[in-house]
Amino acid sequence: MQYPTLYMHEWALAESIILTVLNESKKKKLKEINEINISIGELQQIEIDIFDFAIKEIIKNYNNKLKNVKINIEIDESTLKCKICKNIWKFSDISKDLNNDESEAIHFIPEVAFVHSRCTRCKSPDFEIISGRGVSITSIKGKR
Ligand SMILES: [Zn+2]
Repeated sequence: MQYPTLYMHEWALAESIILTVLNESKKKKLKEINEINISIGELQQIEIDIFDFAIKEIIKNYNNKLKNVKINIEIDESTLKCKICKNIWKFSDISKDLNNDESEAIHFIPEVAFVHSRCTRCKSPDFEIISGRGVSITSIKGKR
């Protein structure tokens, strides 16, 4: 099977997650890793299906410690905060007011969110994204 270059990002990310997990497991002296919990920001530009597939493929190269691992991927909902009135709202609250094209653009290019969005209370365009970006390993479970 050939993997298009378009998805290199997901593969590189999946690999770095596995390497981080293996590093952590060494520090904690785990002989076997049973569970990896990963949080992905809603605004992060990642194809979840490809990322999930990539992780499972990469794991096959490390079949000792990771042969019984369960991968849980959780989507971290994006939250925005107005810099003027300190109002906090969720990206999902505003995305339903956008047309499909805008919604797509925001999903794949987070920065576009700044152009189309306004504070839900004072209508100011001056806000920051306080969650829903980035990828993190929230926990690793295993046996010593
Ligand atoms: Zn506001």
